[in-house]
Amino acid sequence: MNASPPTASAASTSNGGGGVKKSKFATKEPGGWEITLDRLREFRLQNPAPVDTMGCERLAEVGDHIPPEVSRYQTLVALMLSSQTKDTVTSVAVRRLQKELKGGLTIQSILDVPSEELNRIIGAVGFHNKKTVYLKQVAEICRDQYKGDIPDTAEALIALPGVGPKMAYLTLQCAWNKNLGIGVDVHVHRIANRLGWVKTEKDGPEGTREALQSWLPKEHWREINHIMVGFGQVLCLPRGPVCPSCPVQERCPSATGITKSQKKKMLLEAMIKAEREEAFGEVEIHAVHAKTENEVDDEEVVKKEKEADEMKVKNEVVEDDTSPYFAQDDGSVEVKEEDDSESMASSSVANGSKVSPLKDTSQLEKDSADIEDLIP
Ligand code: SF4
Repeated sequence: MNASPPTASAASTSNGGGGVKKSKFATKEPGGWEITLDRLREFRLQNPAPVDTMGCERLAEVGDHIPPEVSRYQTLVALMLSSQTKDTVTSVAVRRLQKELKGGLTIQSILDVPSEELNRIIGAVGFHNKKTVYLKQVAEICRDQYKGDIPDTAEALIALPGVGPKMAYLTLQCAWNKNLGIGVDVHVHRIANRLGWVKTEKDGPEGTREALQSWLPKEHWREINHIMVGFGQVLCLPRGPVCPSCPVQERCPSATGITKSQKKKMLLEAMIKAEREEAFGEVEIHAVHAKTENEVDDEEVVKKEKEADEMKVKNEVVEDDTSPYFAQDDGSVEVKEEDDSESMASSSVANGSKVSPLKDTSQLEKDSADIEDLIP
């Protein structure tokens, strides 16, 4: 390997093993972060963002005709160009370098091209004058000290001109497939603070990186950047986040444009949904056991039991006037509208006959009081 050996633990705040030094930003794991992360991941799967097609890790050329060290160098260049620049602009600049430089985008072609020409090609990116100088210096360092490759440690990457920790950790993940730290940019920094996952608003992205790394399991370090960057590009915008459309609005202490009553209702619905899933999970587990333990195919019996349970629950909902729910003609169950001027119109909690046993009114009132305490 061409890279210099590690000097000190760049991921000194890592909880991923090896020489862990406690960071001053270390913080307690926030409750329910897994649910929030699941919902953000789901949201990102359904809502494409610029980072999905134009993010730095997607810009390097790959393939049999491209040596791996060239791909790695292109990833580093893309990340260097990306600071203070939109993904769309970075993407165009990298494509132009790949196309217009003689021999493509390589260490040698960056060394060969006159600075004025290089500056012209990347002219749309932020701070392109400075970045032109940095690109030239980094190409020289890579040629002379790393035998035409890029460094493979965070320390050595951060030592390169114009390369910061965010770029270093993302380069390690994308170019070397090494997961040694979270790449925290302005989106990750902003959203992690808005969600209350960290309290490092004034400490900058590095404070956020150390705080996140102190509790977030290492297997999520790589995806968190991609999830939050896209989420920040399309919904949790720097100014004017679209909180009423946010999948984690009831869990976010920074949510705006949502009344306390609406938050209460959403938390209540989430609780009912969780109960329903728990109830159906048990039915399914029971069905599997019946088949494996008794070695008989009694799926039909289980199905009939399930149908009977569902019918019973549906009847209970329909007959119980004190229930906060009512059944629609199409079989869906709705929450009755509250006597509350701030309250939203009744919202659907379940469709079809898939309804779990519901709590009695007194329990719901107790839950409701508990939920009041949960609302930030
Ligand atoms: S509720 Fe608003 S501030 Fe909170 S994560 Fe969602 S969009 Fe961002």
